[in-house]
Amino acid sequence: MPNVANTPENFKKCICVGCPTYQAAECLKSSGEKLFCAKGKSECEIASHGCICAACPVWTGNGLNAYYYCKM
Ligand code: SF4
Ligand code: SF4
Repeated sequence: MPNVANTPENFKKCICVGCPTYQAAECLKSSGEKLFCAKGKSECEIASHGCICAACPVWTGNGLNAYYYCKM
C-alpha cells in the first residue's frame, strides 16, 4: 500500500467515482467509498473495466505508479 494521506482533502480530489470500473459496480456506488490508495481495497466484488487513477491529482502528487487500488 502506498503512503497516501487519508485526509478529507485527498478524498475530495479522488476521481474514482468517474471511472468505468466504479460506475459498473453497484456495491461501490451505493457505499460511496473511494480514496482506495490511502484506505486500502474495497470489500465489494469489482470487475475491471479500466482504471483512471493516472489522471488523478492524488496519483501524480504522491508519485503513485499502480492501478486498481480498489482491488488490491
Ligand atoms: S489515485 Fe486512484 S484511488 Fe487514489 S485518490 Fe486518485 S483516483 Fe482515487
Ligand atoms: S482505483 Fe482505479 S479502478 Fe478502482 S475505482 Fe479508483 S479509478 Fe476506478
